Amino acid sequence: MKPFIVFTAATILCCATSCTTETTQQKAMIQVGFENVRIQDTFWSARLKNNALHTIPVCIDQIENQTGRLRNFENAARREGQHSGNNYDDSDVYKAVEGVAYSLINNPNPELERKMDEWIEKIAAAQMEDGYLNTYFTLTGLENRWTDMDNHEMYCAGHMIEAGVAYYKATGKDKLLQVATRMVDYMMQTFMLADRHWVPGHEEIELALCKLYALNGEKKYLDFAYWLLEQRGKGYSDLNKRYDLKQFQDKVPVKDLREIYGHAVRAMYLFCGMADVASYIPDTGYMEALDSLWQNVTDCHMYVTGGIGVAYRSEGFSEPYDLPNYEAYCETCASIGMVLWNHRMNEWKGDAKYANVLERSLYNGVLAGISLHGDHFFYVNPLASHGNHHRQAWYGCACCPSNVCRFIPSVGNYIYGISPKALWVNLYIGNDATCKVGSQEVKIKMETEMPWEGKSRLTFQSDMKGQLRLRIPDWTDTFQVSVNGEPADYHTERGYAVVERRWKEGDVVDINARMEVKPVAADPRVKADEGQRAIQHGPLIYCAEQVDNVETFSDISIGESTEWQKVPVDELGGITRLVGKEGAQIVNLIPYYAWDNREACEMRVWLPWQE
Ligand SMILES: [Zn+2]
Repeated sequence: MKPFIVFTAATILCCATSCTTETTQQKAMIQVGFENVRIQDTFWSARLKNNALHTIPVCIDQIENQTGRLRNFENAARREGQHSGNNYDDSDVYKAVEGVAYSLINNPNPELERKMDEWIEKIAAAQMEDGYLNTYFTLTGLENRWTDMDNHEMYCAGHMIEAGVAYYKATGKDKLLQVATRMVDYMMQTFMLADRHWVPGHEEIELALCKLYALNGEKKYLDFAYWLLEQRGKGYSDLNKRYDLKQFQDKVPVKDLREIYGHAVRAMYLFCGMADVASYIPDTGYMEALDSLWQNVTDCHMYVTGGIGVAYRSEGFSEPYDLPNYEAYCETCASIGMVLWNHRMNEWKGDAKYANVLERSLYNGVLAGISLHGDHFFYVNPLASHGNHHRQAWYGCACCPSNVCRFIPSVGNYIYGISPKALWVNLYIGNDATCKVGSQEVKIKMETEMPWEGKSRLTFQSDMKGQLRLRIPDWTDTFQVSVNGEPADYHTERGYAVVERRWKEGDVVDINARMEVKPVAADPRVKADEGQRAIQHGPLIYCAEQVDNVETFSDISIGESTEWQKVPVDELGGITRLVGKEGAQIVNLIPYYAWDNREACEMRVWLPWQE
């Protein structure tokens, strides 16, 4: 059973251009990369714009001016001077480069590109002769490198690889890619080829190595990713004998993992790496493990916002059904990780249940982590606040802002999938896209009212022979499809409505997923939510902020008899408010993602429920 259920009847229960490798395993679909999907959507276009206008500049300013992150590279190049900050701060620079690269693909910006070229010169200059690159150890003592699994050296290297691949794809410039590849070759020499054991304390490099392999087809990088995964669970990691190996997912071999524990972000990145490796190497046992882990996470450890992790458990998982609201951790990076992992699971299985979780984490867990303006961030995303939890302009540990900076411009990745005979629609976001279904070049346009109402329209701008597979969202009870104004027959497969015909240019597909206000009940084992309900409307979870319920906040209650009204308003970037009338009492709700964008005040997702 899930940790929450909708209270009403319904159950809630490779790269396009540069890939030189082929998966040996048959995936249900592969994504249409965001470089082929131009977002045109009232909800999302504003977010992409704010990412370019505010989030990326914030990251650049922090990296160049407010903190010593870029100076660390300058000092490391001269092999003198101090290191400032944490041993993982290099990763923020790489993630910003990756975010800029993604942004450049759809929004060319020569000035920004020139700046990144300068950064990359500085990064390259900091690389040691042997290929090693980590400014912390270059400046604080190379004798200490590779002495502690939790020092994030391979974590930083992973983000360097991702940045190098992204910048190469965006600009055709391969300097950072070469630097990253030299670092990888050095690490392979130092560990795998020297039979020296190593377990990265914070996963990330595994999925990054698969990206490198997908780009250049050099199998040794895939082998290294597999080798690193297979190092786990054998007692190799704890050189200093002071770690709880569960925290680092190092207690058992990864193929034997069945229940989730430890650090939430690390777990998500690990699972992504496992899914990636399994797509190339047969019989790893990884997908069997991931199936069980997915069931375990979504049954016992996931908040209604799609967030994961509890504050008093070292940024990680607690006991099953221990989901406190004020002490939820739900790190923004962990919600991004849920999107990345569920996306991979859906590519594998072609089952809407994964895209449903992806959508939940995206619209609630991830988006709450960014202010509406795009320049303030949450690291921790609780589901209730006494009014003392606020977004910040930056964090000493800045993984979340830099992750947001690279995630938002790549959101187009999650809309479409393709398989030889089908075009899959996984998310409803307005866009123009081109893709290949089998050998056919397909052009399609999507318009949508989501996330506020449930109507969407697809227009074929080229012919296509094959199936259109439309995800039926788990929040709707009624899903109707019509083609050129006539109701269309479809059959359902693993949560997708399958419509098959010879599609002609100009064909119009109208989709109506009825969207209603739904009270959501928690599993009775979740003590923190006893006697309460959360309110969901479409993919959005709603919350009550004190500023909208000034006199009544401490007495708010809702019930079966509450009459709900949808009120579209311009405030908070344009939202639909939900106004509930319960006797003489009025309850005002806003989408959870929009909270803490006004004056400081109390907030609650779960509200007392009158039977
Ligand atoms: Zn983070």
